[in-house]
Amino acid sequence: MDTIVIKFGGSSVADNEKLQTVASKTIKLYEGNNNVVVVVSAQGKTTDKLIKEAEELSLKPNKREMDALLSVGEQITAAKLAILLNYLGYEAISLTGWQAGIHTNEEAQNAKIEYIDLERINKELENRKIVVVTGFQGIDDNGNITTLGRGGSDTTAVALAAELKAKQCYIYSDVDGIYTADPRKVSNTEKLENISYEEMYSLSSEGAKVLHDRCVEIGERYNVPIITGSTFNENPGTVMTHKLEASGVKSIVKKDVSRISVIGYGISSKDGILNKILEIANKNCLEIFNIDISRTKISVVFKEMVKDEILEEMHNELIKNEKTYLKNE
Ligand code: ADP
Ligand code: ASP
Ligand code: MG
Repeated sequence: MDTIVIKFGGSSVADNEKLQTVASKTIKLYEGNNNVVVVVSAQGKTTDKLIKEAEELSLKPNKREMDALLSVGEQITAAKLAILLNYLGYEAISLTGWQAGIHTNEEAQNAKIEYIDLERINKELENRKIVVVTGFQGIDDNGNITTLGRGGSDTTAVALAAELKAKQCYIYSDVDGIYTADPRKVSNTEKLENISYEEMYSLSSEGAKVLHDRCVEIGERYNVPIITGSTFNENPGTVMTHKLEASGVKSIVKKDVSRISVIGYGISSKDGILNKILEIANKNCLEIFNIDISRTKISVVFKEMVKDEILEEMHNELIKNEKTYLKNE
């Protein structure tokens, strides 16, 4: 029997109604004769709310206690989903990070997974239970609860998929795939059918929060078939591949307030792209502070704040009107 790992992020599990959708998606995979491990995040903005409340108590909350606090968010979701699945007639069990055998280093609030002891998960899967695991957390060698850094549930899911040699790892969120730019900031974006792990790593580490960058690294290293899709529709998502052929500009992303990165394998060897970025910057009176080029990205840090309209202009020029800037090369 194949094992499938599915992960649902905060907006997908925000309330009871959404949990019903999550349960249906889970059951469909389970009924398809698969072992299913579901990884869940804290509901909605729970993590932000807990951080704010702790910061009202202390200007510099103790990191160990922050991990103890934040890990609770995921535990609430996991238990609720298991309660619902049981009610719907499916045997399910929720496991915390430590119950699931996720061992990390001691770096509180940004811990790295060192190894996963699958004994408990395997035992539950053998009994045909749906295993619901809390994302974002583990345990260190001293028995302290640790968390993996913001957005870390993606990393829990991909690491579990790697260890379980899962047939598929679905990362479900409120967008149905990876787009040519953040569809909430830029209009006219298009969904990508596929993206290479290396390009996706650049996109995530340059600020696209759709996937935690460390999960992409694990996915590439352990050949985890990752598909990103929406919890709320059945549209085909974006598939992560090992392909490294030159693919033109794939996506564009803004990090912080002034760093714009254009992502795509091979684009750094095309003069037209950098020239076009510089032309748009010049037209908008933006001064360049630094340029950083690698084989999958061109990142430019400006001296001023870059408005989302400029991100949109770059998206339109570099992705929508691709031919215009390359025709003279
Ligand atoms: P989850 O809570 O499920 O983990 P996130 O909020 O972390 O989901 O990630 C999904 C969000 O990522 C989307 O709502 C979208 O605004 C943002 N995003 C940023 N860049 C992209 C992109 N290139 N493609 C798709 N979504 C993107
Ligand atoms: N709940 C955590 C966060 O908000 C982890 C996650 O959602 O992936 O960062
Ligand atoms: Mg996320």
